[in-house]
Amino acid sequence: MEILPKKIRLFNQDIEIIIDNDYCNAKSVLGESDINHNKIRICSYFEGEDIPFQRQRHTLFHEIMHCIIFMIGQTTMYKNEIMVDNLGTAIEDLILNNFNKKKNE
Ligand SMILES: [Zn+2]
Repeated sequence: MEILPKKIRLFNQDIEIIIDNDYCNAKSVLGESDINHNKIRICSYFEGEDIPFQRQRHTLFHEIMHCIIFMIGQTTMYKNEIMVDNLGTAIEDLILNNFNKKKNE
């Protein structure tokens, strides 16, 4: 079973990754970055069903990208959901499809 990291290191700061289904369901979101408190909340159960791991991971990359764009000083741009989602997807694809390959593949 794959699991999300419990924390990540980003720009010399530890960002805590929390599965918080109560919070996410109450706000109707699959995830949320709390940049001021170095937390990312992710949902694993939403609207009465489990969220597939791949969707949770995609949401995590999306939320990480919110943090990255904010941390580089783009405090307006980090709210651009379409740009954030596309950049998060690009980084997810880059890492998953290039750095986990076994030798001779
Ligand atoms: Zn977002």
